[in-house]
Amino acid sequence: MTAHNPVQGTLPRSNEEIAARVKAMEAILVDKGLISTDAIDHMSSVYESEVGPQLGAKIVARAWVDPEFKQRLLTDATSACREMGVGGMQGEEMVVLENTDTVHNMVVCTLCSCYPWPVLGLPPNWYKYPAYRARAVRDPRGVLAEFGYTPDPDVEIRIWDSSAELRYWVLPQRPAGTENFTEEQLADLVTRDSLIGVSVPTTPSKA
Ligand code: FE
Repeated sequence: MTAHNPVQGTLPRSNEEIAARVKAMEAILVDKGLISTDAIDHMSSVYESEVGPQLGAKIVARAWVDPEFKQRLLTDATSACREMGVGGMQGEEMVVLENTDTVHNMVVCTLCSCYPWPVLGLPPNWYKYPAYRARAVRDPRGVLAEFGYTPDPDVEIRIWDSSAELRYWVLPQRPAGTENFTEEQLADLVTRDSLIGVSVPTTPSKA
């Protein structure tokens, strides 16, 4: 994802160093009997193959075709997601923000990397970097431009600071020209970045 990385070159340490730290922590946790290697393998495989932004995309597509579901999603995202069988750890309190013609929402965790795991999976590396966390607040339009999205100057950009208690994500606008799309085809247009609000869904011609 280097092409979409607005904070390139700010990696705090090498991948090798991170891998070594993770291995060391895993060894200590297993050694102390706090976790088993099976549990770690299970978690890795769940987040590699089952939980990811495709779930958030499915929920967005449903909201685009079903106004009543959309209303429930905007009122209580956590329970609306549960209706679709989506929920769990790090998603206990989720709030969905609707993009409109006049408002574009963008999510950050300025303190660390709080993120709605059940609908988006694990956060991308850039989401955790100090550069994104600071610049999303200070220069949101600059960050959006680096992700390839330039909202009109009269569109208000709202930044939402997620925390361990409250995790935000974005309901993007349905792209024009998708009137005849099935729910599945609509979900294919929804990208992870559009759910964080650093981008918008791909248009049918680009998809
Ligand atoms: Fe955080």
